[in-house]
Amino acid sequence: MNPSILLKNGTVLLHGDGDVPYPRRTDILIEGNIISQMGTNLAAPSADTKVIDCRDKIVAPGFIDTHNHLWQTQLKGRHANDLLLDYLPKGNMQGYFYTGHDIFWGQLGGALEAIDAGTTCVVDHAHMNYSPETGTNAVSATVSSGIRAFFCYCPTSRVKSWCPLTKDDDLLPPWLLTQLESLAKQSPFGDGRVHIGLAFDWFLMPKQAVVDLFEKARRWGVKLITAHYTKGPYSGDFSPIQILESYGLLASDLIFSHSNAADMRDADLLKRRNAFVSCTPETEMQMALGEPLAFRPEFASQCALGVDCHSNNSSDMMTQMRLALQYARARANQAFLDHGKLPRRLQALVEDAFNLATIQGARAVHMEDKIGTIAPGKLADLVLFATDSPAMICAAQHNPLAAVVMHASVRDVDTVIVDGQIRKENGRLLPCELDPGLVSGSRSGSEQVTWTWADIAAQLLKSQGRVQRENEKVDMTNMLDRVIEAHKVDPNSVVDSIV
Ligand SMILES: [Zn+2]
Repeated sequence: MNPSILLKNGTVLLHGDGDVPYPRRTDILIEGNIISQMGTNLAAPSADTKVIDCRDKIVAPGFIDTHNHLWQTQLKGRHANDLLLDYLPKGNMQGYFYTGHDIFWGQLGGALEAIDAGTTCVVDHAHMNYSPETGTNAVSATVSSGIRAFFCYCPTSRVKSWCPLTKDDDLLPPWLLTQLESLAKQSPFGDGRVHIGLAFDWFLMPKQAVVDLFEKARRWGVKLITAHYTKGPYSGDFSPIQILESYGLLASDLIFSHSNAADMRDADLLKRRNAFVSCTPETEMQMALGEPLAFRPEFASQCALGVDCHSNNSSDMMTQMRLALQYARARANQAFLDHGKLPRRLQALVEDAFNLATIQGARAVHMEDKIGTIAPGKLADLVLFATDSPAMICAAQHNPLAAVVMHASVRDVDTVIVDGQIRKENGRLLPCELDPGLVSGSRSGSEQVTWTWADIAAQLLKSQGRVQRENEKVDMTNMLDRVIEAHKVDPNSVVDSIV
């Protein structure tokens, strides 16, 4: 642990008026978890100060991922050709097969994958709560990873049987409410990094049950509430934004993931209540959720970006920025081509993409005074990019912002600092210290306290094998039809072709 860190002569991406990002060569002094000074020729305040030569580095605000399911690490590789209805049993419902230890390692792996990619804050939609143990272990792993997080505890639709596919009717068993209350009241964890939130997807519940849950959760102190918003044959034809407004529950603590079918009334309500949407372009484009809305002008002030399923796709925000940006450009350009014209200029810009993953993410979690931009007094959540790789060379020197958005990948993420602590250095994750306050009871399944990435990877492979063996005990044939039946989807609405 370093009492202070001095970043010397980096090319720092700052934000000016109107959120316009721009580069400036400057030093950054970090004391404790705060950026205490910025300027040229800053001196190290003590002999203990860790000095990092950043002459060949771009220093950016740590990325903020506003929608992820961190526990799903062991499921990576399963979903490459999956649509949403395939993903549900192979991903979403897999909490059924996880032990508490599996949850610990999956969550830790997901959080470390995010840090490795330069993400310093994540909104975790934690929909794997089959028992009290799973919730506690996931919080413990989140704290241990070192990431900043909103752990949004989800009343989980728990599989009761696979054949036929049935779910437990009781979404809010007493143990779940007791645990949510207990975690929310103890929050924050990890020196203030990990806050408890609520994740909620059950808008067909009776109104009073929804109102009661939201009121209780807010009274207990949850910091955020997040919900999936997907219209269509699977989810139904309603807007969670408008339902919550009609219940008097729509407020600034809400983040709606996806929201591809959101309309002008949704946009107006989001602005009025200062609630946000999280666009996750990679899963949305693959799984038929709809067109990403990140660059629709009516959502510009209320939109941030997310990864969604790192079991399905990349967990880095550079990819999400690029996909959202290029999708918006393709769509806009096609409209000109359809009219036999050419656009004179692009409307969707790299500056906007960068802001979606930084300052807009900070606004979505209402921490814009602390993270998402670099300035004295803000929390030290930073990502340092190397500029000498074949991908970054020349781009970084000509236009550092373009280099980060258009050229960087995880290999270029050299150093990651969260809350003033270095979590990745010289391109490698540093070992994790498992949180002593939460580790009692051996949530990891081991008494070992310090874990290298290699140690963690070995545990993940063991856990993945165990989860896979449990899967193989269940007959998964014709699962798509079982999912359609269990979720009361009109079978005529799921077709091979629309011609
Ligand atoms: Zn999701």
